[in-house]
Amino acid sequence: MASPKYAEAKREIIEAKEVGTLSDGTKVKLRAPRMRACNEKDAKGKLCAGHLKRWYFFGDEVKAKYGDEAEVYRCEKCKTLYLPNPEETPRTGTLAW
Ligand SMILES: [Zn+2]
Repeated sequence: MASPKYAEAKREIIEAKEVGTLSDGTKVKLRAPRMRACNEKDAKGKLCAGHLKRWYFFGDEVKAKYGDEAEVYRCEKCKTLYLPNPEETPRTGTLAW
């Protein structure tokens, strides 16, 4: 029988996978498909639920890791960065080639 703790950890992986951390401590996560709200938890275990917004002002570290034209989203509350899920098709047609 799976313990509740184990089930919770498993769900976390399906929702948004942490893929790295920048040198300043900013977390980088992979968005789950159609995900619009941050699933980070604070020290008390409270869900952040901040809005994920397209973010264009990332620095050289993000560029070096994910490319100059990277599609990056940032939580407006806790500043965690989110990368688009590979299974999701881009919302704009600008990247079509
Ligand atoms: Zn957040």
